[in-house]
Amino acid sequence: MNTKTRKLVERRKRLLRELASLTLLTHGSFLERFSTCARENCACHQGKKHGPRAYIVVYRDGKQRQVYVPRDQVKWVRKGLRQHERAMKLMRQVTDINLKLMREAMLEESVEIKSKGAQQ
Ligand SMILES: [Zn+2]
Repeated sequence: MNTKTRKLVERRKRLLRELASLTLLTHGSFLERFSTCARENCACHQGKKHGPRAYIVVYRDGKQRQVYVPRDQVKWVRKGLRQHERAMKLMRQVTDINLKLMREAMLEESVEIKSKGAQQ
């Protein structure tokens, strides 16, 4: 394995390590809206709606789902959304490295090198 290839493999290892550190990763979009509650006599039904309340919008089986986010969790959910952005960027970078390794016909060898070191 030449120096150039070794550098790519090292860089890929660092990127994947960072990817594994994104523990709050959440794929969805943040939403704040005003809402009405279940109590029929509440003022929210006369236009004084509750909120704004935070939600995270996620897609499951092609359907949109809004999950309520308690106020004290907003900061962490937002951090998770940023981590998702970062994860996407890291995956694009890993993809570029793997395509470079492919052109050098070094994909298989790059996997063997990794497994020798890490014993996975
Ligand atoms: Zn209400």
